[in-house]
Amino acid sequence: MRLILLGPPGSGKGTQAQRLVHRHGIVQLSTGEMLRAAAAAGTPVGLQAKEIMSNGGLVPDEVVVGIIADRIEEPDAKKGFILDGFPRTVPQAEALDELLRKKHLKLDAVVELRVNESALLARVEKRAEETRARGEEVRLDDTPEVLTKRLAQYRSMTEPLIHYYSERRKLLTVDGMMTIEHVTREINRILTALGALEPKEHEEPKSASKASKTAKKTAKQTAKKATKKAAKSAKKAAKPARKAAKGASKAVSKTKAAKKAAKKIVKQPAKKTVKKAAKQAARAANARKGAKPAKRLQKSSRKSELNARSG
Ligand code: AMP
Repeated sequence: MRLILLGPPGSGKGTQAQRLVHRHGIVQLSTGEMLRAAAAAGTPVGLQAKEIMSNGGLVPDEVVVGIIADRIEEPDAKKGFILDGFPRTVPQAEALDELLRKKHLKLDAVVELRVNESALLARVEKRAEETRARGEEVRLDDTPEVLTKRLAQYRSMTEPLIHYYSERRKLLTVDGMMTIEHVTREINRILTALGALEPKEHEEPKSASKASKTAKKTAKQTAKKATKKAAKSAKKAAKPARKAAKGASKAVSKTKAAKKAAKKIVKQPAKKTVKKAAKQAARAANARKGAKPAKRLQKSSRKSELNARSG
């Protein structure tokens, strides 16, 4: 799909281009952005453009045509592109026609975003405020004074393109005063009706977003269920583990007790044996003690027997 977004500064061309890019996977070619990048990089073209831009003028046709000619040759532009801020003059539109003709490419549509001029100043001021809030540098030409000049340029140099493209049956006008979402929907509806977007291409992102929502929901539910199940099985798995742990601790205490008992058993018999042995030894000793007098008695009784016999 090859598309031109036409409209005065602040009409929402950039915003809508970004939304289309996001949705249809084609590139946004904004000459304003390219010139600002060139100015920031300090290239000769950029420096020349910076001066013109900050005064609200238009950069020479040959410069912007050259930039676009190179850019549409890039591989990412093969699938299609959205031109945002180009062409801005009839000579630029003619140069674009020639470029596309040479490449056997067709322009699908020119979407004009029509807005009340009175709303533009407020929009541009809002844009500047939002840029400042993001901590980014505010565009030098987003001031009430430069905006007035840019609007004058638009009326005199760019508005003739409305006639140019309507003559070539390419022009489609959208009410740019609607909400951003409504404008996007309207552009998509028009592009689908034109056949620039396959119905599927138009529908897909919607159903895709629905599908992604459903997928997210399903994923959430599945995750919840899985968590519950996992928790349950973990509990279940933990049961024998707990049991085993209990058993183990019991076993440990049993083992401790057994060890203690064994120690006792080992110690006790030894003690007992020693005691027993000591007792026996003592008894034996006593017996031996007792036996000596007996022997003595025996000896004395034998002596007295002899004495009696001899006496
Ligand atoms: P934009 O970001 O589209 O509002 O452009 C910012 C400024 O860049 C314009 O005010 C012009 O000075 C310059 N510019 C961007 N595109 C073109 C163009 N196609 N032709 C001439 N000047 C342009």
